[in-house]
Amino acid sequence: MDEDIEEILVSQDKLERRIKELGIQISEDYIRRLPLLVCILRGAFMFLADLTREIKIPLAIDFMAISTYEGKTESSGIVKILKDLDTPIEDRDVLIIEDIVDTGLTMDSVTKLLSTRNPKSIKLCTLLDKAERRIVKVNVDYYGFTVPNKFVVGYGLDFEERYRNLPFIGVLKEEIYKGGNNNINAK
Ligand code: 5GP
Repeated sequence: MDEDIEEILVSQDKLERRIKELGIQISEDYIRRLPLLVCILRGAFMFLADLTREIKIPLAIDFMAISTYEGKTESSGIVKILKDLDTPIEDRDVLIIEDIVDTGLTMDSVTKLLSTRNPKSIKLCTLLDKAERRIVKVNVDYYGFTVPNKFVVGYGLDFEERYRNLPFIGVLKEEIYKGGNNNINAK
């Protein structure tokens, strides 16, 4: 698996340190608010698991699974809900936990959809921000790292369901994903 990685962008050590900082920040910002953390499956599962252990205030967790029509390495932003939240979010302080914001199309759709359910607030925490690729403006309230315009895997992020279990964020070798066909992929 490691031989498919071109370069390690964010080491396990750096992930740990930054996620601790995010946990402290979120604990301060959401004190006495019982935030509902909405984890976008599947890419954000590892980030959620580590982040929540660094948040030292009471919180609730729910999961949402979406798919985007996409090519092998790019999303179209057309979002379909595969699993909706189990929790009503009216009057709740919602914090979306996402793996990576790329064009912004996916998070734009998800935040618009959740906003129609009248939460008290809705914010976004993404582990990675590929800011230079943004097509639509998305308010990123918390982010772990900005990454360049390269296809990354590991720490929850996949290519065709593989590499999620790598403990770091790495750039996938181009020869692994070049070819390209269009299909519908669960995140
Ligand atoms: P957006 O709608 O912002 O363009 O895309 C967001 C989604 O595309 C992410 O949640 C993720 O599923 C996928 N994505 C975008 N860039 C990457 C990347 O570099 N690596 C992986 N594994 N997925 C990505």
